Amino acid sequence: MTKRATIIGGGIVGLASALALARRGFDVTLVDDDAGRQAASWGNAGHIAIEQVEPLASRAAIHSAPGRLFSRGGALAFPPAQWRHWLPFGLRLLRASAPERFAAGKAALAGLVAEAMPAWRRLADSLPGESLLREEGHFVAWSTPEAARAGRAAWAAADTGSAHFRDPTSDEMSALAPIGIAPAGAIRFTGTGQIADLEMLADAMEAALRQAGGRIVSGKARLIAGGSEAGLLIDGDPVADSGLIVMTAGVRSAALLRPLGHRAPIVAERGYHIRAVDHDWPADMPPLVFEDRSMIVTRYAGCVQAASFIEPGDPDAPPDPAKWARLEAHVMALGLPMRPPFTRWMGARPTLPDYLPAIGASRRAGNLLYAFGHQHLGLTLSAVTGEIVAALATNERPAADIAAFDIGRFEKRG
Ligand SMILES: Cc1cc2nc3c(=O)[nH]c(=O)nc-3n(C[C@H](O)[C@H](O)[C@H](O)COP(=O)(O)OP(=O)(O)OC[C@H]3O[C@@H](n4cnc5c(N)ncnc54)[C@H](O)[C@@H]3O)c2cc1C
Repeated sequence: MTKRATIIGGGIVGLASALALARRGFDVTLVDDDAGRQAASWGNAGHIAIEQVEPLASRAAIHSAPGRLFSRGGALAFPPAQWRHWLPFGLRLLRASAPERFAAGKAALAGLVAEAMPAWRRLADSLPGESLLREEGHFVAWSTPEAARAGRAAWAAADTGSAHFRDPTSDEMSALAPIGIAPAGAIRFTGTGQIADLEMLADAMEAALRQAGGRIVSGKARLIAGGSEAGLLIDGDPVADSGLIVMTAGVRSAALLRPLGHRAPIVAERGYHIRAVDHDWPADMPPLVFEDRSMIVTRYAGCVQAASFIEPGDPDAPPDPAKWARLEAHVMALGLPMRPPFTRWMGARPTLPDYLPAIGASRRAGNLLYAFGHQHLGLTLSAVTGEIVAALATNERPAADIAAFDIGRFEKRG
């Protein structure tokens, strides 16, 4: 008999999970309430960031925080009116940054990140049309020789997993010259990648899901406790046979899991981008990180995007226009070949205080899996997460050890 599965949330993690399940023979319904693809999945920097194997819950990140504040020109912002969201999160982050917890978290995250690119290759190759995965690495650049020296030293000391960096070749430097980057001021990562276009990715994955027999339903889902199994409502109407339920609702997941007694202290780590369709950005330029401005510029098929900011807070609070103004100021100061009018976007990374995702099977409801909290790495980790969800649903061994991602890690501490 065909098994049914209902996926809650159609961001990149939900879509990847839905597709993996449909291809394993599940009768899949994906429920999503995002009109116009405003979710983080469709506004991010497109970077397959396999160099980021160290959780941001670290002593090093905490020590560097004062220098990274928005008020000092950096990317880190704590909106005073949203203190109820970021203060408890920050206190938990401090605890999660203890050296032994950081080391355990890093081992777990590195194991997952190691599987990210192979899983992306499988997913990208399986989608119709030309592959949307580009494996051309990325650049990191600095504005001054001093910043470059310090930045290079920091990367040399960091664990970058299976990604490596080197000096740019003379051809690469020639390509960077029109963007105003001096020879001493850049490094080229290899092993990392990018998604050529997020809109095209969403279209291709939705088409593949439908082709595999899946349905995409627009609506707001809600879970209710119901004995040993979770019940499901869509737009307030009970769903009789939801089958397996997979919670992939990004930053909303924690609130949706609450009726079952699950606790996940998630925060909306808000980020901003501006996009320009009028530009002369080279078509083959991989993502370019202006590290001392905490800004990443990505060439997509139809635009160039500059993104930045870590603003933990309320997902429903209005965006802060000062963030877009700062991005525009960076673009102007650097003389980047992208011109107004810029479109403006803000989206929320779903982040847990230890900067590890929550992936696993619920111990409170036998029909419930969850996959959320992918912080800065949701695009990077989506393909492997989809494979893990499918493995959990079919009682197979997941490709990576997911014990550290159990949601119970928060519940035990109350
Ligand atoms: C500025 C910025 C840059 C980033 N850059 C990168 C990058 O370069 N590389 C990378 O790997 N990651 C990056 N990220 C992080 C990445 O975007 C996120 O980790 C990822 O998008 C999370 O995906 P998700 O599917 O879990 O959540 P989301 O994208 O938030 O999707 C969740 C979906 O669930 C839906 N939903 C919520 N509640 C309900 C409900 N009750 N019923 C039905 N549907 C519901 C939402 O509408 C949404 O469509 C970036 C994020 C930001 C903000």
